[in-house]
Amino acid sequence: MSELIIKTRDALLQAGISPRKSLSQNFLINKNVLNRQIKFANLTEEDIVLEIGGGTGLLTEQLAKASGKVYSIEYDRKLAQYLKTKFQSHSNVTILAGDALKLDFPEVTKFIANLPYHISSPITFRLLDYDFELAVLMYQYEFARRMVAKPRTDDYSRLSANLQFQAEVEILERVPRNCFLPMPKVDSALVQIKPKKEKLPISKKYYRITSRILFNTKNKLVCSVLYDYFKRIIPKEERFAFKRQLDESLSFANSRVRELSIEDLVKTTGEIMEFLQASNQLNLLK
Ligand code: SAM
Repeated sequence: MSELIIKTRDALLQAGISPRKSLSQNFLINKNVLNRQIKFANLTEEDIVLEIGGGTGLLTEQLAKASGKVYSIEYDRKLAQYLKTKFQSHSNVTILAGDALKLDFPEVTKFIANLPYHISSPITFRLLDYDFELAVLMYQYEFARRMVAKPRTDDYSRLSANLQFQAEVEILERVPRNCFLPMPKVDSALVQIKPKKEKLPISKKYYRITSRILFNTKNKLVCSVLYDYFKRIIPKEERFAFKRQLDESLSFANSRVRELSIEDLVKTTGEIMEFLQASNQLNLLK
């Protein structure tokens, strides 16, 4: 039996828990994957790391060895207590008990974690609201494919569009399901996220709103999706003129949403903003 399986079982016993599916408690038990995750993180003494989902602390331990400071958030009260005891003599580790979707994050340079998969989407959007240099995160493989998907593919989604607007995203490696205890039904992947250094070309708020509206029905034409969205709030007698003006204002009116690149989406967001601003109706974009 591998060293990490024994350590994980011991830790769970000491913490007094059996893994809970509802908390995505699948613990990494493959030492080579763990070592590669640390290597990908490229940590130095200067780094301050945030781990989301400390679990039994095996990754936390390696992060603490390789960086200046580690914060680890753990939602499970018993595991958080176990981690606090385990790391009480480590002056560079702080365990934060609570929900990673609600706690304020400390200032960090890197996010390194084997994420609880049931919060993959909201936690990823949350990370994008913070300043950081690099994230090396474990996701479900299917989710990771959506993160890196390109236009005109089935996996291209609101997630791909939002993530790639702000960051360079790359799948570092596929991680087989048998690297976790208990073994999940699907494979995982280590993903690298590097926020773009240059200033965003358009307001993040409006880009996110536009892509949310558009990707609601990504196989439809841009003009139809937008018209369907806005028509609820436009008086009946003004709808025809509204649609005509909308079509004329958009460079990609007759493209399908799934065909739009990040640059096309930026352009479309700008054009929608201009179009609505002209009639003092930017508040419709919400
Ligand atoms: N870091 C460990 C590892 O590498 O094996 C554990 C990873 S496990 C996939 C995810 C961990 O996130 C579990 O310990 C779980 O209790 C914790 N967790 C679940 N929901 C959470 C939340 N909302 N906020 C913080 N931690 C959470």
